[in-house]
Amino acid sequence: MKSDIEIAQETKELPINEIAAKVNLKEDDLEPYGYDKAKINWQAINRISQNKKLGKLILVTSISPTPAGEGKSTITIGLGDAINNQLHKNTMIALREPSMGPVFGLKGGATGGGMAQIIPMEDINLHFTGDMHALTAAIDTLAALVDNYIYQDNSLNIDPERILLKRGLDVNDRALRNITVGQGSKFNGVEHKSSFAITVANELMAILCLATDIDDLKARIGDMLVGYTKDDQPVYVKQLGFQGAIAALLSNALKPNLVQTLEHTPALVHGGPFANIAHGANSVIATNLALHLSDYVLTEAGFGSDLGGQKFMDFVSNHLDKKPDAAVVVATVRALKYQALGKTDNLDEENLAALKAGFKNLERHMNNMRSYNVPVVVLINQFATDTEAELDLLKKLVEEQDIPAEVVTYHDDGSKGGIEAAQTVIDLADSGKAKVVSTYDEDDDVKTKIEKVATKIYHASGVEYTEKADKQINELTKLGKEKLPVIIAKTQYSFSDDKKQLGAPTDFKLHVKGISLKNGARFIVVTTGHVLDMPGLPKHPAALDIDVDNNGKISGLF
Ligand code: ADP
Repeated sequence: MKSDIEIAQETKELPINEIAAKVNLKEDDLEPYGYDKAKINWQAINRISQNKKLGKLILVTSISPTPAGEGKSTITIGLGDAINNQLHKNTMIALREPSMGPVFGLKGGATGGGMAQIIPMEDINLHFTGDMHALTAAIDTLAALVDNYIYQDNSLNIDPERILLKRGLDVNDRALRNITVGQGSKFNGVEHKSSFAITVANELMAILCLATDIDDLKARIGDMLVGYTKDDQPVYVKQLGFQGAIAALLSNALKPNLVQTLEHTPALVHGGPFANIAHGANSVIATNLALHLSDYVLTEAGFGSDLGGQKFMDFVSNHLDKKPDAAVVVATVRALKYQALGKTDNLDEENLAALKAGFKNLERHMNNMRSYNVPVVVLINQFATDTEAELDLLKKLVEEQDIPAEVVTYHDDGSKGGIEAAQTVIDLADSGKAKVVSTYDEDDDVKTKIEKVATKIYHASGVEYTEKADKQINELTKLGKEKLPVIIAKTQYSFSDDKKQLGAPTDFKLHVKGISLKNGARFIVVTTGHVLDMPGLPKHPAALDIDVDNNGKISGLF
């Protein structure tokens, strides 16, 4: 089979206004970026958000990721194409924008694969419409403005060593995790420690994904906590007056981007927080727009039910015009065998015992999603090496738990690779059975919220806090912010905070290392285990395989 990028490059995109017309968007509603990409303009966003129509929302999540691959984006896109082109229902896909960190690092792009992709894949995976660059510029402008404030007169007496805002870059650069700025003569600013987080983990990315319009964007930026004064008083961006300039830098990036799948289904690709270190879903503006424009909307929550899934159900969906009507959990035979074996050797060989043992991981993810009171379906993403006996066993194991399961081949066959599966998914979404509940009550304090997620979703036996985390909780409480929702940063590889504990571990504690208030995003980030907000590059980064020829044709992206 051809590579993802070869398939994408051989497919002729339709002009973007033809894609827009499929969901009744007019040429006047678009701000084209060349032939095959466009932003939706504010007049259109404001008009469409008044539409009474609200489609069905289908959330796609998966088992715990492994090096064997799960194919969540591939399935989201293939399923969207199947509902659109095989069942002939008006459908939109709402996905995150890829970060260049993973594109050049380990994981690769985020535009699906095989015959189920969004295009133009090189553009989407690289600079796209410039949203990531706008965010990086906004993050670093804010950091520079704060440092300049301290250098110029610092009338609020901000403590340079207690600045909480990080700098940002959409690059995996471990060397920037801890830095010192302002070195040298006094004309270089006030020397203090600083740090970089990858752009997608920054609070401004979360704000971009949650803001409903420019006023909301500006208000949220104004509410960001900059740090503390020398006499322990919090300082917010609005006290320094930078919110207007930062919102101006982001105002274009706040408009969703329209592209298409290989089979020309309209897709909004907008905003891209990771699900392990941030909230893990595309922008609220894009998903709401898709809900008002089409009958079925597919969206993806990053990683498993413990990360993107939990964050979507307990947090993101509260910002949407409706909650999910159905949830899809993606699983592969290979990844479940890996969950039991812990290594990638021999995954091509039939191993029913390993599959049965590894099923525990899927079982927990599907039951987690079911615990939100949303109908669940498991889609088994078939790989060429899966045997019939393995696929039958996996389907049977899922169905024994009263959850439907379907084997799909969207990767190889496009929308034809799972027509019945698409029907099962929309039947569940149409069933009216979803009555979404939350893991915690809005009124619970921060420790109760963490404990409920840890015990009910991760299946931990309890939570332990470092002294630093306890101190940070006291600071939060003094600010009256202890009841905000929690976004737990945790490894994606395990239900626990130890990436080596595969399968469905029990009898472990969750270790909370740090707590930080994201007052503009209106949530609290809880850092557990060894998770980092600035990833590093692996020994063989994907960058080594990426190239471009003299005609500008890019190769090696996946
Ligand atoms: P996720 O969203 O879970 O990170 P992706 O959908 O991005 O996963 O897929 C990761 C990679 O795996 C892509 O390069 C894709 O082409 C490949 N892939 C997905 N499904 C299959 C499959 N059934 N057979 C072969 N490769 C697949």
